[in-house]
Amino acid sequence: MGATVAIIGRPNVGKSTLFNRLVGKRLALVDDTPGVTRDRRPGEARLGDLRFTIIDTAGLEDADSASLEGRMRKQTEEAISEADAVLFVIDARAGVTPLDSHFAAVARKTTTPVILLANKAEGKAGMSGLYEAFSLGLGEPIAISAEHGEGLADLYDALLPHV
Ligand code: GDP
Ligand code: MG
Repeated sequence: MGATVAIIGRPNVGKSTLFNRLVGKRLALVDDTPGVTRDRRPGEARLGDLRFTIIDTAGLEDADSASLEGRMRKQTEEAISEADAVLFVIDARAGVTPLDSHFAAVARKTTTPVILLANKAEGKAGMSGLYEAFSLGLGEPIAISAEHGEGLADLYDALLPHV
């Protein structure tokens, strides 16, 4: 069995875009069944010579603000317990939000390695969010652009010890 890496973060930070970037076209579309909320979507990821199972987490997109926090807590705790490493994604353009900070505190309590990714960092628009991300206490953030495929060499270096 290879390693399992889970992608977590609040809605709209680019988790699924990163998943698709790492899995490519090797995954059949499985998440579009009407009326079915799929909380976790596994795929076979490739990054350079690394091969690992990656889990996209979802199901928060339709949560109202009252239920979002509880669902995100459950998702964060499950991902952390099942994965060999966790990718904690924030939106570098939006900066650090209270929800990001709250769940960074949950993630800080685990012994599972957490890799902090500041996504949407193409161009200069992500710079302030990148620096803000240090405040999450999850180590040095890695600037990536899931959409444009930037920062993947740094992600490779961060994942190498864990997969
Ligand atoms: P999720 O809810 O965390 O799974 O986020 P999605 O992957 O669905 O992406 C949310 C939005 O952010 C979509 O409109 C994406 O096109 C956009 N997005 C994702 N990655 C990037 C990126 O690297 N740069 C920019 N500018 N937008 C991105
Ligand atoms: Mg998604």
